[in-house]
Amino acid sequence: GGRAAKPVKPTRKVTFADVAGQDEAKREVSELVEFLRDPDRFSKVGATVPHGVLLMGPPGTGKTLLARALAGEADVPFFSTSGSEFIEVFVGVGAGRVRKMFEEARKQSPSIIFIDELDSIGRTRGTGLGGGHDEREQTLNQILAELDGFSPREAVVVLAATNRPDVLDPALLRPGRFDRHVTLELPDKGARRAILDVHVKDLPLRHDVDLDQVAAGTPGFSGADLKNLLNEAAITAARRSAADITPDDLDQARDKVMMGTVRTLAIQP
Ligand code: ATP
Repeated sequence: GGRAAKPVKPTRKVTFADVAGQDEAKREVSELVEFLRDPDRFSKVGATVPHGVLLMGPPGTGKTLLARALAGEADVPFFSTSGSEFIEVFVGVGAGRVRKMFEEARKQSPSIIFIDELDSIGRTRGTGLGGGHDEREQTLNQILAELDGFSPREAVVVLAATNRPDVLDPALLRPGRFDRHVTLELPDKGARRAILDVHVKDLPLRHDVDLDQVAAGTPGFSGADLKNLLNEAAITAARRSAADITPDDLDQARDKVMMGTVRTLAIQP
């Protein structure tokens, strides 16, 4: 259906200020803001700007957030889909959805297309039982065809996210396709503190909460984990009918999120 062709209108504009840490990734992506704001300035002098950008990094490090922030900064429509949405569709449906989404994005250009979980459709072709003709491959082929079909003047930037760049079909990475790569890392202590600062803004913390200490005690946590931790702590405080979040709530929440993380890691292939 036309589902994938609708631009997602976030209720609040996301900007780079919402993305804590990730300075290198933000710097690389911010080069595209100027292009999206005024594509003619670039095409006039014959400058070619990349159409395909691959965002790589562990789950929860802010790939989706960064893509949305780019759309917010450039103030352009944001078309979003996920590779996993194409897994169970009938033959031809996925390719049709891809075609429609690109068509709509071109109509509304300058614009951004975001494809989350690219690896779920973008795995190396010819390895499945479909003999090279299953719906996943057709969807992937359609994405490749769309990327190849851009003229240098078209101001549509396609961002795709993956945490498994190693399994991607090499065809996706060829020049003119996803040839620009941006890596997001798990946050270090300073970045964890910055992420906590972003997400505590509306939370009532008791005066003795030390966020540096929370940051120091959460090595290996992603941005998503830290957001989760704060929410868990708020839930714990609410259960006590307390007015604010205490260091103990945060400790309990950390242990909960850590156990969740361990469980998730254990079931990954
Ligand atoms: P996945 O690979 O699981 O899709 P992702 O890398 O796309 O993950 P997001 O979905 O962007 O990660 O992150 C989930 C949420 O975690 C974000 O909406 C945001 O609230 C929080 N978050 C992640 N990274 C950051 C960050 N660097 N700064 C602030 N918040 C962050």
